[in-house]
Amino acid sequence: MSARPLVGREAAAVLRGLAVDVVRRVGTVGLAVVIATDDESAAWYVRSLVAATEKVGISCGVTDLGAAAGGTQIAATLRARSNDAAVHGIILQTPLPAGLRLAELAADIEPAKDVDGANPLSLGRLTAGLPAFAPATAEAVVKLLEFHRIELAGRRAVVVGRSAVVGKPLAQLLLARDATVTVCHSRTVDLAVITREADVLVAAAGRPGLITGRHVRPGAVVIDVGTSPTADGGLVGDVDATSVADVAGALSPVPGGLGPVTTAQLLYNTAAAAAALS
Ligand code: NAP
Repeated sequence: MSARPLVGREAAAVLRGLAVDVVRRVGTVGLAVVIATDDESAAWYVRSLVAATEKVGISCGVTDLGAAAGGTQIAATLRARSNDAAVHGIILQTPLPAGLRLAELAADIEPAKDVDGANPLSLGRLTAGLPAFAPATAEAVVKLLEFHRIELAGRRAVVVGRSAVVGKPLAQLLLARDATVTVCHSRTVDLAVITREADVLVAAAGRPGLITGRHVRPGAVVIDVGTSPTADGGLVGDVDATSVADVAGALSPVPGGLGPVTTAQLLYNTAAAAAALS
């Protein structure tokens, strides 16, 4: 068997199209990105996000506070952007300076502008079944599955990873679509026994090659969220694509799978925030 590739390009284009429609309707839409690191891949990501916003007519302002920024300064910046009527979406880019936690600082992002679901209030609301922005990556997993018409209701979903930005919110989104969800983590015993039960397996551990063919039930759908840098400047996922493609029914590639959908989801969330605030 060779797994069907769940590419993200078309799903991303659909989301971008929806974002453009909303931007045209609302008029002016603004995204604010706050960054406090000299991490090269974070800087690259922010540059690519700025380019993506330009393509859909969203204006994006980046505030670079530098790697020496303190929590007070970052929190004050987030509050200032929250109070700025020209800003409809706010992203606090990671990594943060040592000792600072995203969930703590993001509490200063106005929930209506929390387009990457980083404020703990957003995760709480999501868990309670109330309207809230989910982190774009978690939402993108669901959008990619829906775009490829993969049924979730009644199916067994296993998520590997329990971070507040991917694993936990994704578990809530899958539950809300009536999947039966298991969340695994680094202390999970016999990981392969659990992952082999999955109809839909999502790998979000940031461990290249963690998921191999022996972790996958024949015919299962596998979504690879992992993005780890390679020595030659590329990206690699958590899934060993060679062995998994022989067993899975469908597999999202890295790169080219979830990444484009995540960026498009952020644009869509920002446009949606602007529409709700206008
Ligand atoms: P994270 O905060 O480091 O969390 C990783 C999770 O994986 C933790 O819950 C950890 O368990 C678990 N884990 C680590 N090793 C494991 C193992 N051997 N077996 C089972 N579980 C294991 O990472 P994250 O921020 O959630 O990101 C996860 C991956 O997604 C990274 O590669 C990141 O780059 C990628 N990502 C991609 C996108 C995208 O748009 N495609 C966006 C965001 C993140 P413990 O909780 O026990 O430590």
